[in-house]
Amino acid sequence: MKITPEILQNAMFEQFKSGEVFDTALELGKTYLQNICDRNVAPASVAQINLSRLDEPLPEKIGIPDDIIALLNNIGSPATMAQAGGRFFGLVNGSIIPTSLAARIMGDSWDQNAVLHVVSPANAKIEEVCQNWIIQLLGLPPQTVAGFVSGTSMALVSCLAAARYRLFADQDWDINRKGLNGAPSIRIVAGRHVHSTVLKAIALLGFGTDCVEWVDVDEQGRLITAKLPKLDSNTILILQAGNVNSGAFDPIRDCCEIARRAGAWVHIDGAFGLWAAACDKLKHLTDGLELANSWSVDGHKTLNTPYDCGMSLCADPEALVKALQNTGAYITYSENRDGMLYTPEMSRRARAIDLWGALKYLGREGVDALILGLHKRAQQFSQELKIADFEVLNDIVFNQILVKVGDEAKTKAFVDHIQKSGECWVGTSEWFSQPVIRISVCSWATTKADVTRSVQAFVDAKKSTLTKKEFL
Ligand SMILES: *Cc1c(COP(=O)(O)O)cnc(C)c1O
Repeated sequence: MKITPEILQNAMFEQFKSGEVFDTALELGKTYLQNICDRNVAPASVAQINLSRLDEPLPEKIGIPDDIIALLNNIGSPATMAQAGGRFFGLVNGSIIPTSLAARIMGDSWDQNAVLHVVSPANAKIEEVCQNWIIQLLGLPPQTVAGFVSGTSMALVSCLAAARYRLFADQDWDINRKGLNGAPSIRIVAGRHVHSTVLKAIALLGFGTDCVEWVDVDEQGRLITAKLPKLDSNTILILQAGNVNSGAFDPIRDCCEIARRAGAWVHIDGAFGLWAAACDKLKHLTDGLELANSWSVDGHKTLNTPYDCGMSLCADPEALVKALQNTGAYITYSENRDGMLYTPEMSRRARAIDLWGALKYLGREGVDALILGLHKRAQQFSQELKIADFEVLNDIVFNQILVKVGDEAKTKAFVDHIQKSGECWVGTSEWFSQPVIRISVCSWATTKADVTRSVQAFVDAKKSTLTKKEFL
């Protein structure tokens, strides 16, 4: 017999009332995190093979909630990467601040649409509070507005759209109506080492990546100020706080001062590195950042919020709002903060809640300690690797380490060995056309012992990947 709407509704009311399925999920999630530091970092190959058990026909009938969550746990959990633990060093990932996750769980139960104040006063207030806290923590201009987006990719699109709006508006060109056809020209200047998502944003916004005027970088990947072309008021200068390979920072103050005099717009991509501004011992790296016009930063990297959490920050609120404009008869803006004004999306999860949980728990001191901790573990990693006779290619100014072990084949064999060992997880990259192993220390959970154990995984990989010739 086919289920009726009433039976379905009653079944789900029952689940709201008993809360059993939520208890199950919470219990299994708790156990997962309790064991996260002891398990192998990469999932075993048998766990990946078992994923095929999810390849079943689309169910015809409604299911049994507890069984569904148990299946997800039994099949899914073993095939996850232990990113919340202390020995995952791929990408720039980060663990989760427990209170931030708890706030997320709470907020997920609320299921708020972050779109407008009328739809969720709670979210609107929390976004406003986070915006104020971020301005204080990073030392941004007081009028800065924050858009809570999925990550730096979207923050880049938003901020560069704001820059585009402003530079065109200054030339009496309404980009929203007139588009790019026949528009006055806009220049984009960036260091050769910008992140790939900057190029994505430039392409998405219709500038075309061929139009970028590339500026040479030094041996750490920092833009060389003296190599900047002459900037003018038609220029967007894109700087970087945290090179995704070396962690290096562009000379922010020098570049911003030159750009300001020329009337150019400066955007700083600080996906993980902008947080240096919130750490006493490291804030020299971002000196002058308040002179820029917009910034992109993630919560889900250095700050260790759950995914996904990014922010577009713009000191020209009008430009951001105009660039992301959206109207409709049923959209009721208010006197209060309406989140969708600042984001490309309309409906959105209330991700500022997780951010609020992280900042409320850590406070200024906690954020400082978190960031300093990542830096210290990165320095330790580099030192211990050097003692074990590895070649580290970069200065450890923040949390990134680049290790050279040989040609591409050798580097791949090396990384495969480390990943398969389950001891830690590192990835590969390219540094000035050389293959390298890339380590990003980004988890609050990484201990001194984790670093030493991971260096041992490097030593073991070296032994087992040595060729016969190298033995002799
Ligand atoms: C990670 C990263 C990005 C992209 O951020 P997402 O949050 O993954 O969208 C951009 N720039 C830099 C420097 C990054 O490290």
